Amino acid sequence: MPYLTAPEALESLLPGEPRYRVDQVREWLYRHPVLTAGEMTNLPRELRESLAPRLWPMRVEAEHVGDGGKTVKWLFRTPDGAAVEAVLMGYPRRTTLCISSQAGCAMRCTFCATGQFGFERHLQAGEIVAQVAYANAHLRAHPMEGAPPRVGNVVFMGMGEPLANYDNVREAIRRIIEVMGMSARAVTVSTVGITPGIDRLAREPWPVTLALSLHAADDHLREQLVPQNRRYPIDDLLAAARRFGDSHGRRVSLEWTLMADVNDGADQARALAAIALELGAHVNIIPMNPNPLSPQRRPTAERTRRFVDEVIRHGATATLRDTRGTDIDAACGQLRVRAATEGAPMGSPRNKVPAQDRAESPSNP
Ligand code: SF4
Repeated sequence: MPYLTAPEALESLLPGEPRYRVDQVREWLYRHPVLTAGEMTNLPRELRESLAPRLWPMRVEAEHVGDGGKTVKWLFRTPDGAAVEAVLMGYPRRTTLCISSQAGCAMRCTFCATGQFGFERHLQAGEIVAQVAYANAHLRAHPMEGAPPRVGNVVFMGMGEPLANYDNVREAIRRIIEVMGMSARAVTVSTVGITPGIDRLAREPWPVTLALSLHAADDHLREQLVPQNRRYPIDDLLAAARRFGDSHGRRVSLEWTLMADVNDGADQARALAAIALELGAHVNIIPMNPNPLSPQRRPTAERTRRFVDEVIRHGATATLRDTRGTDIDAACGQLRVRAATEGAPMGSPRNKVPAQDRAESPSNP
């Protein structure tokens, strides 16, 4: 499995091949990925045939297309049965890929579809990087109108808490930056707040972007939404965020999933603005995606607008993110929820769903 082997150790998979051939394979895997080994045109036929059945470490179980072809969601399945979700979003002049770092998640955030299923296992570095390579191969084969032909931003906001799978996520980041050639600033690691992991990340050589999934401005409410807050309360989290900012001169961002009658009131908006101002952080507000397994609900558009205005009125910078791919269950864990609650077809390969409505960022949840 080429992606499950470190790029520097590929020769172990290609015994007897000269160094330049190993370099060519590495180029195909990381710099110019293609969907099938048959497209690796400068390799001899026998080598292409030997790579073909083991090119990807997981198969595509479903591919859903929404937003007029501008959002693509994949449900991958590893040979041991783990489900992995990734969402590609094309915009004018940029493309963003949301990737998973774990199959399932142990954090059990109450509003998140993935959290309701519990933890399956950590993803290996190669399984994480393969999501980026596959999206690049897809863009090469199926360009998105107006969007660049490569993934421009990678966000760890799919299934899993990336800092709970630190070593594999670190190795994936290294390959994405040093082997694939992406900018560190184009990589965003989103966390509910594993503070030792934030401190480790701050010591790495890559100035990636850190996104804190805050969702509540006081410990009492946050413990109800993000159980992990009992272990790492808000003050600890903000202190770690400050240390991270100091280490690379990078501002963090605050993610806020907006839930009706839970965290969409004026008091939470004011407290959020105060935290953002103190941290010098930008706020991203994401109306909650529908999730039949969660007691929380999405607020109305009017209440959402009022919350955003209140945060801005108190001096913070904030962006309201639409939710991409609502029509294709693009938020993390939602394909699995649909399958579990409605018997949605997950077994048919490349199950394409046509675009319906406008929508936006899948984000976590
Ligand atoms: S929001 Fe993120 S950390 Fe929380 S349960 Fe979902 S995937 Fe895990």
